[in-house]
Amino acid sequence: MKINPIKSKIVHFRPNSITRVDIVFKCGDFNLDIVDRYTYLGLVLHEHLDYNVTAKVVAQSASRALGLLIAKCKAIGGFTYDVYTKLYNSLVWPVIDYGSAIWGLKSFSCINAIHNRAMRFFLGVGKYTPNAAVVGEMGWDPPIVRQWKTICNLWCRMSSLSFRRINRRVALWAQSKASSRCRNWFYTVMNRLTSLDCHVYSTINQHIGKNMLFDIVKPKLMDEFINEWKVSINRVNGIRNVGRNKLRTYSLFKSNFDVEQYCKMILPHQHRSAFSKFRCGVAPLRIETGRYENLNVIDRKCTFCNAIEDECHVLFNCHIYGEYRQELYMKAEHVCPAFSNMTDIDKLVYLFSNPQLIRITAKTCFNILRKRSLIMCK
Ligand SMILES: [Zn+2]
Repeated sequence: MKINPIKSKIVHFRPNSITRVDIVFKCGDFNLDIVDRYTYLGLVLHEHLDYNVTAKVVAQSASRALGLLIAKCKAIGGFTYDVYTKLYNSLVWPVIDYGSAIWGLKSFSCINAIHNRAMRFFLGVGKYTPNAAVVGEMGWDPPIVRQWKTICNLWCRMSSLSFRRINRRVALWAQSKASSRCRNWFYTVMNRLTSLDCHVYSTINQHIGKNMLFDIVKPKLMDEFINEWKVSINRVNGIRNVGRNKLRTYSLFKSNFDVEQYCKMILPHQHRSAFSKFRCGVAPLRIETGRYENLNVIDRKCTFCNAIEDECHVLFNCHIYGEYRQELYMKAEHVCPAFSNMTDIDKLVYLFSNPQLIRITAKTCFNILRKRSLIMCK
């Protein structure tokens, strides 16, 4: 066998507290370099087994895959929700999924960012849209739950390997070493399974059927996630406790974590985008843009009237958009005769939560935003 000394490097795997060896490694007469990471089977391993490094590299590849999907989607003129979801799950997520059984024990912001970007693109909203709203509209399983799927699969696989296999023996050895003093992969997984009330399956000593573990773990992980999500959409203040939560109106018409009907409908992309922006509270109206100019809420006035320009104002009160209101009111009253007698906020909630009014509301939102930008550009 011949070894290429130029391509051979040394990595010293060790805890953070230990300094790197200063031994000179040789291959023939050639001194080998000591490096801090190397790629093994496509997975970057850092000298301190810092999985943030691994996840970042994975996120970069996934970002390229997502870019390709987005370009395809634009070129073809848009996909339906089911097709887009299927393509994401088969083109982008597998890039992240590979090896995530090893590094995916916790949530990584770089991985979540890819996932959120994919959902934002479909909805046609900008990057300042609160993630809680985007996640709630699309109803996709969050990355941490998907990561735990691969972890559970690996766990089941190791539990059913024959004892003759060396990886089974290595796994049993690593499991026996796991303790609060040796916080290895097994320690973390066992702890998590115990915290999820799955202590029956928290060792690989007994055989666990394929998918059996994840079927039990998934509802529990989803419950945890949904509880956190509910807290974030109902929060009164912003995340850093400065200002108010952007989702001031969102929580009025959204309570269940489930894909929204309008995402599944075939709507013109621009209509869906305007509708999403209104729902998520990020439509380019003064109530939102005033935020970036540090204006008080009472100073975020409409350019044409002396009222605060928010979603209710442009939809129900501003005289500039009167032409679009007639059709909207007509359709809404057809569905609910008492519509015109409702308060503005009730009207808003009604329009954005009634499946029969999605098309007309989406069209009106789009027309309002288009007219507004045309007038503003003059
Ligand atoms: Zn106005």
